[in-house]
Formats: sequence, C-alpha cells, structure tokens
Amino acid sequence: MFELRFHGRGGQGAVMAAQTIAEAAVIEGNYAVAFPFFGAERRGAPVLAFARIDSKKIYSKTQVYTPDCVVVLDDSLLDTIDVVAGLKPDGLVVINSRDKPDDIDLGKVIKTGAVDATSVALEILKAPITNTAILGALAKSTGIVKIESLEEAIKRRFGEKLGASIGERNALAARTAYERTVIGKSRGVKKLEAKKQWLPSYQELPVGGVLVEGRTEAGLIGPGSFVENKVFGWATFRPVRDKEKCTMCLLCWFYCPEGTIVRISDKGDLMTNYDYCKGCGICANECPVDAIKMVRGKT
Ligand code: SF4
Ligand code: SF4
Repeated sequence: MFELRFHGRGGQGAVMAAQTIAEAAVIEGNYAVAFPFFGAERRGAPVLAFARIDSKKIYSKTQVYTPDCVVVLDDSLLDTIDVVAGLKPDGLVVINSRDKPDDIDLGKVIKTGAVDATSVALEILKAPITNTAILGALAKSTGIVKIESLEEAIKRRFGEKLGASIGERNALAARTAYERTVIGKSRGVKKLEAKKQWLPSYQELPVGGVLVEGRTEAGLIGPGSFVENKVFGWATFRPVRDKEKCTMCLLCWFYCPEGTIVRISDKGDLMTNYDYCKGCGICANECPVDAIKMVRGKT
C-alpha cells in the first residue's frame, strides 16, 4: 500500500489533490481512498488530506501517520510544521518551491521532488491554486500513476465541477509541472523543534485575535491562533494600498478576517500590520475604488 499525506493551506485545494490522485489510481485499475482532515479551516490556514493506493482492497480508515510520500503545497509551511513527521525511511517529499531540492532544508536528507507550482498555476490558471500542478510533480517523483491517467482524472474531476475548459487547463498545469519537476535530495541541517508559543503585548494584538482559538491536528488555527501564528508566512500575495485612490470608506478594515488593518486615528489613515496579514485578498476584493492591489512576494 502507498500512503500519502498532503499539507496545504485552506484554498489551495489539498483535498481535491488527494481525491484526484486517488481517481487516477482507480483509472489504472487500483484501489484508492482519499479523505480530508477537517478542522475549523479558514482561507490560508494549514490543512491536511490523505490518500491510500493499493492493488488490493483497502480497509484502513485511519489518518495516515507513516506516509510513503508527503506532498507540500506551500513551502511556507516548513516554518511552522514538521512535514516529514512519521515519513517512512525510504519515503519522499514532493514540494511546491522555487528552490531546487538540495536548497530545501527539511531537517533530514530525503528524496525530494520540487517544482514552482505557484508560478505554473499563475501562468496557466491565473490563480495561485497549486493542487493540479503539484500532482504533476507527484506523478513525476513517484511514478505512482502515469501522467496520462492523472490528466484524465483531472479532466473528469475538475471538468465535472468547473467545466471542460477548466479541466483542460488544470490538466495542462499538471503536465507542465511534471516536465519542470526537479528530483534530488533535500538538506538536513535545521533542527526540527516543537514550535514555541509567542505572546504579543496587548498593543500588538490583532483585533481578530481576541476571538476563540481552535486547536486541531493541523495546528492551532482560527481566530486566536496568533499565539502561535504570525500569519505573514502564509501569504503568497500582499495587499498594497494606493493612498491617493483610497476614500477611507473603511470597508477593508471591516472585512479583514484577521483584524490586521489598523486605523491610525490621529493621522486619519490606515495601516496594515503585515505580521498578521495572510494575503487572502478579501480587502482588495471589497475595496469599491480598487485602491488595493495584491502583489506577489513578502513585504
Ligand atoms: S489585510 Fe487584506 S489580505 Fe491581509 S488578511 Fe486582511 S483582508 Fe486578507
Ligand atoms: S476599502 Fe479601499 S477605499 Fe475603503 S478604506 Fe479600504 S483601501 Fe480605502
């Protein structure tokens, strides 16, 4: 049996990725199951999904604790989660990263397939939804399914839900990532330590942080998770506000789920506390005068 664990963030499609690789395995005549771990996810929060593939019927219903392969849809997760926990000694990691395997420090020297799935997704899908691209890297790195079966599964699954042309584009994202994947060995330098709690002063508290926290196996998530998460590491994009266009309507301040947009009352202005901005883009979507642009990269 080949067991997979997917690490992603809410909105990146980790659950669809697990379901789609299972469907590709079934197309090839194997048995497969896929299931998510549901916590109180929000966009950008860490999420888990699992899949099992075998030539025989699968009876195991537990989460995957000792995977043969770990798939990481977002390499910012490496800062906060020990993604290789429980990985079998001859297992491998497939990761969305701009770096080559020998520049990626997983705390262990492990076979690693790396691809810049975010760039592939932006080029082909025009959105940072990396699940189909990372599946292409998974097919290349493991050979667990053929790329043709994966393309077929993507077209079926995404085509049924989102329309044939979106299915085709996602299949192309998988094929492109398949061709760009670099396979090597990760670095094993960093110490894998349990994350320490970080307690902000009351002046530093984001407004959203006063709400109830939620502890799940994917980590501490939901409002209140600020005690462990400075969520800047979650973001692919950052909001940048054009002060000239801004009318101070405060819709962005009202809708920001992290409460990270702060009013500076004496200056009649707004400031974004990027330590807590997870790059969800809600502020940019809500701004009625298009004063906020989402810009790729850290600020
Ligand atoms: S500032 Fe904008 S992008 Fe950042 S968390 Fe708030 S709504 Fe999301
Ligand atoms: S929603 Fe747009 S116009 Fe309104 S305060 Fe925010 S940036 Fe300014």
